[in-house]
Amino acid sequence: MDFRLTDEQKMVQQTVRDFVKRELMPLEGEVLLNERENRPGIERAQIRELQLKAKEMGFWGINTPEEYGGANLGPIMSGIISMELARTFVPFAFGGSADNILYHCNEEQKQQYLLPTINGERRSCFALSEPGAGSDAANIKMRARKDGDCWVLNGEKIFITNGNEADFTMVFAVTDPEKGGHGGVTCFLVDREMGWRSSYIPTMGEWGPASLYFEDVRVPEKNILGKINGGFNLGMQWIGAGRWAIACRAVGVAERALDMAIEYSKHRISMGQPIAERQAIQWMIADSYVEIEATRWLALYAAWQAEEGQDNRHASSVAKLNGATMVNHVIDRVLQVHGGMGYTKELPVERWYREVRLWRIFEGTDEIQRYIIARNLLRGHVKVGETF
Ligand SMILES: Cc1cc2nc3c(=O)[nH]c(=O)nc-3n(C[C@H](O)[C@H](O)[C@H](O)COP(=O)(O)OP(=O)(O)OC[C@H]3O[C@@H](n4cnc5c(N)ncnc54)[C@H](O)[C@@H]3O)c2cc1C
Repeated sequence: MDFRLTDEQKMVQQTVRDFVKRELMPLEGEVLLNERENRPGIERAQIRELQLKAKEMGFWGINTPEEYGGANLGPIMSGIISMELARTFVPFAFGGSADNILYHCNEEQKQQYLLPTINGERRSCFALSEPGAGSDAANIKMRARKDGDCWVLNGEKIFITNGNEADFTMVFAVTDPEKGGHGGVTCFLVDREMGWRSSYIPTMGEWGPASLYFEDVRVPEKNILGKINGGFNLGMQWIGAGRWAIACRAVGVAERALDMAIEYSKHRISMGQPIAERQAIQWMIADSYVEIEATRWLALYAAWQAEEGQDNRHASSVAKLNGATMVNHVIDRVLQVHGGMGYTKELPVERWYREVRLWRIFEGTDEIQRYIIARNLLRGHVKVGETF
């Protein structure tokens, strides 16, 4: 067993760490100020500029196959990169990527949807959740009815990330009610110009998802993504890719916040001593460190399974549940160590506190991860003590 990163992985880790320090962290003050005054933390054009700078260093299309101009670095490297990027709250991601399910596009769809998304010319959103179906995704009601060579879509989607900004959506609708949610759902590629509307949903985070409304939206048959009635599997494929990635991001956020707490505790004097001298503070620091390390290994294990081509769904649920819990605990402690300052908008701690609360909800709630983990154990798909 070898826990060391390879020389290449170390080099990539260090390069991204340097990029984050040099290019992104200096923008943090501006991001906090803009958000406080209800402006976007950072303009899209500025993100684009940074993405192009990163492209010159080879960071473009981290998971995108080489044939589409990507670096295709693989799951472990992506995990390491996510951890590094998450050390800053500047909302930045390397360019050159597209949703994993867009690779199911046929040749014509690739030109219209996949390639422009990779190039940053078009923006997608993934629309599965509905007002009556979140955790119970198989219970969606949006209906698609065949009419000539079109499908007519009616219904509402809710909490769709980028739903207000996207110019096309990958939307899931029931095409065969008799087969039900698992076998009767199809994914459609639908341009905004085809007639769907969106409205922004304010949340406790610094950005909000959107509701999407479909009223008799006519979508050509050629806009079906993948197979007719094959949408549920596509939806699960999209969600599955995000779970262990959230655990990686949790590690990055928590590491940075813990570093801040350690520094602050050394300099904050109370009753004649730095608070770092107090056991109460030391225990918060120690517990946070232990929990971060645990998430790191769970996340990298799920990434390793993906790299090996193994089914990593169970490991992803374990990592996601652990990571989302961990980062909420750590940020809460970091806020506590900072006392009143932690509660102000001068520091990013209260921002993280609001942001990471979401991570226990989206891409499968804590309860759904527990349900999956327990189901796998009870049915014998996974056996206790047989991780290796
Ligand atoms: C900011 C944000 C962004 C999002 N982005 C997207 C997106 O881009 N695309 C998209 O399709 N969706 C998106 N979602 C939706 C998200 O996936 C759902 O909110 C999530 O799956 C939970 O569904 P729900 O909100 O309907 O809660 P519910 O499913 O109604 O759950 C309510 C509570 O009941 C619990 N619960 C539900 N079922 C069970 C069960 N069987 N056993 C035990 N407990 C249960 C849940 O854990 C939760 O605590 C987003 C949500 C948010 C808040």
